[in-house]
Amino acid sequence: MTDSLDKIVSLCKRRGFVYPGSEIYGGLSNSWDYGPLGVELKNNIKKLWWSRFVHRRDDIVGLDAALIMNPKVWEASGHLSNFSDPLSECVKCHMRFRMNESSQISNSQFPISKQNPNSKKETKCPNCGGKFDDPKQFNLMLKTFLGPVESSENIVYFRPETAQAMFVDFKNVLDTTRKTIPFGIAQIGKAFRNEITPGNFIFRTREFEQMEIEYFIKKENWQESFEHWRKEMLLWMEAIGLDLKHIHELEIPAAERAHYSRRTIDFEFDFPFGRKELYGLAYRGDFDLRNHFKEPPYREVVTEFYPHVIEPTWGVDRTFLAVLSSAYDDSDKSRTVLKLKPQLAPYKAAVFPLSANKPDLVSKARDIYLQLKAKSYQLNPVFDDRGNVGKRYYSQDEIGTPFCITVDYQTLEDETVTVRDRDTTKQDRVKISDLGSYLADKISK
Ligand code: ATP
Repeated sequence: MTDSLDKIVSLCKRRGFVYPGSEIYGGLSNSWDYGPLGVELKNNIKKLWWSRFVHRRDDIVGLDAALIMNPKVWEASGHLSNFSDPLSECVKCHMRFRMNESSQISNSQFPISKQNPNSKKETKCPNCGGKFDDPKQFNLMLKTFLGPVESSENIVYFRPETAQAMFVDFKNVLDTTRKTIPFGIAQIGKAFRNEITPGNFIFRTREFEQMEIEYFIKKENWQESFEHWRKEMLLWMEAIGLDLKHIHELEIPAAERAHYSRRTIDFEFDFPFGRKELYGLAYRGDFDLRNHFKEPPYREVVTEFYPHVIEPTWGVDRTFLAVLSSAYDDSDKSRTVLKLKPQLAPYKAAVFPLSANKPDLVSKARDIYLQLKAKSYQLNPVFDDRGNVGKRYYSQDEIGTPFCITVDYQTLEDETVTVRDRDTTKQDRVKISDLGSYLADKISK
């Protein structure tokens, strides 16, 4: 299984999806940069999410808040006192490790096999075999100073979740929209956690992105709303091409839930390195609003009660990795294919002249490419006239381009082109004038 992670990491680097961060300076531990194709895939994930949960519904509005907030936010939310992981230090070599719920030890410097959740519990240091001291709580918030003076009054924190802004701006949103309970606020943005053991490529990093919804309800409706969001999350996973066979719902026992949660389900996914959390769904009760707004009323309509909150949360980077692991297919010896859902593919179509040294074919192919580019910003077509057609197909398959359009001699006679389907490799002959609607129809499926 870890084999396939290596293949994905290498494809990501080779084709411009993800590069090691600050590489020319020797890198920076577990930081990654999304390259030209990676940013397209990542943006397509975010666009699909926004369209599905904000634009297509009339009960959710968006927000894009500052990611450094007044530290009082983190005091009220409980993050300053509670947002921590247990950390143990080896008494012999002084290496530090994160102890998770099952007292397993994980550290990204060790081979992934040593971190296999199915392996035996380890109670000795994997580095030197030494003993551990008692675990200490380590706060995961990333600190900095705002302004030129590095004094304790100027300490601020990079947000560890996007959620709090949706609570802090709750009254502003109520006052400036016509929303009433039930309704939700959605946000996509960066979050930072000083993780003890980042690792497994982009799975656990200290800087990452989240897509979150805080859905405000009346207390008595929490179970119904929780169930609604559980189903919505599963439908989303299907929509982005994850096989539900690889999704496992895990009910988190009370003792292991985050400090604000009254119920949590983790959606775990079979990543190449094992079954791990992909998304979470939590019932936060009225914990956050009650702490931020000590006294109701928020507005005339909602005077007498604190709304309760259901929170579905999606990690963007983990979505990216799950999508790539699901799409990666090298079972056919002659080619590697990324079977991405067309809506997520960085390029939806590639346009080729059959032969690069026939100027009339090249110029016709260029015209078609430019027409497609002008017609729809969503297509993001690419032009390729290097090498031969076989090599170009190979190259587009590897980055997941669902349709390859070839201009040949027949095109010059009857204004038709061939369109090759990435997954079946079958070709259709399509009129140039119908190309836009042909592709739009296929891509929407
Ligand atoms: P974990 O148990 O893996 O540390 P968590 O339960 O702390 O995750 P949440 O607080 O529920 O995570 O965060 C919501 C989502 O944000 C997660 O489901 C995951 O997709 C993503 N996420 C959390 N931490 C990281 C991280 N360090 N790197 C990348 N994505 C993350």
